[in-house]
Amino acid sequence: MPNFLIKPDILIKNAQTVLTMDDRRRVLTEVDIRVRAGVIAEIGADLQGGEEVLQATGRVVTPGLVNTHHHLFQNLTRAVPGGQDALLFGWLRVLYPIWARLGPEHMRVSTQLGLAELALSGCSLSSDHLYLFPNGARLDDTIEAAAEVGLRFQPTRGAMSIGESAGGLPPDSLTERESDILDDMIRVVDAFHDPAEASMCRVGLAPCSPFSVSRELMRDTAVLARDKGVMLHTHLAENDEDIAYGLSQFGCRPGQYAEDLGWTGGDVWHAHCVKLDGQEIDLFARTRTGVAHCPCSNCRLGSGIAPLRQMRDAGVNVGLGVDGSASNDMASLWDEARQAMLLQRVAHGADAMSPYEALEIATRGGADVLGRPECGRIAVGKRADIAIWDVGGLASSGSWDPAALVLAGPRQVHDLLVEGVRVVAEGHLTTVDLPRLIERHGAMARALSTGD
Ligand SMILES: [Zn+2]
Repeated sequence: MPNFLIKPDILIKNAQTVLTMDDRRRVLTEVDIRVRAGVIAEIGADLQGGEEVLQATGRVVTPGLVNTHHHLFQNLTRAVPGGQDALLFGWLRVLYPIWARLGPEHMRVSTQLGLAELALSGCSLSSDHLYLFPNGARLDDTIEAAAEVGLRFQPTRGAMSIGESAGGLPPDSLTERESDILDDMIRVVDAFHDPAEASMCRVGLAPCSPFSVSRELMRDTAVLARDKGVMLHTHLAENDEDIAYGLSQFGCRPGQYAEDLGWTGGDVWHAHCVKLDGQEIDLFARTRTGVAHCPCSNCRLGSGIAPLRQMRDAGVNVGLGVDGSASNDMASLWDEARQAMLLQRVAHGADAMSPYEALEIATRGGADVLGRPECGRIAVGKRADIAIWDVGGLASSGSWDPAALVLAGPRQVHDLLVEGVRVVAEGHLTTVDLPRLIERHGAMARALSTGD
């Protein structure tokens, strides 16, 4: 297992193509990249030295991909019968009682499995949205588990407070008292949030959705986040049911709801936003409010095609998210980038989104949404989160343009550096024993399915 305190000098040698995603969007060929102390130190031809040399001949190099929306615990409930063919609200009603049986160990194991899956798809930085805490589970469980995997992690302390008896969607047993929620938000920020540029853990605050918390909690959380200097995250405008709930309960559309409660700004990002209208897109662009676009989940739940093209054209910060694995049900950032591109082509024609733009959204776009401009691009002085793709294999064999990565693959990364540490080496995780983890995780899911 690599020691994360020791960040070796690594020289990535002779990369065929580097999609830098830097400010000039340069695409470099036949170059070397020097990584030192977790930072990209030098980019150029014929660099020499370095403790460790990573040969990248015939490989494509990109920034590590960034996941802006996930519920890691949900990978214990992939493809649950009864939830496979339901819309959002019906799907949630099937799953809530199962999730009510999770505990701390489920959170730990699902976090590790989910981050391992993401790492192999080229993802170096992931957020997570944990909004239920049954049977003693805490955000701490996921943070400790993530540190062992070695991805940069931005967990958010989620919450649900309005249960069925008060007109909300979740069962009352999965909700918490709002004063307890706010106390625990303060606790986890004080204990775990690291604002440094090199930070491997930044904590955000994330009441679950308009249909599971009160307006007061949304407002109080926004005040708290600004006091603590942390980011805000929630679900917004996911599908027609969601819009109808907001109109009937609050008498307004999601844009106004967000604006009234302090949920716009560069320190806020909303998941989905499938149903934003033109005015709301302008509001998000003007206020620098971010969006986590989750195309596979939106397809799976039949929520619709998010106005990604319009959002990008208006200047909205957009990143990609795999969303929870109960609604995807896989968690590959590479797949999300491809799906984002394909969906916009379905909606607007084949010239609506290029493979390059899809990768830009998956890297630089996501990093900006998560408030990490020091990540998501390959440039001197940026954090060394780097994905190396072997384009000499089956999926990309015959490709005339291997740098158009999301057209021909590969779907899995060959090497992945996070903060200059090799988390994936030659297609294998260096940090966790994956076969053992899968065995443990599978056993947990089977026990949940049989009611043990
Ligand atoms: Zn979600």
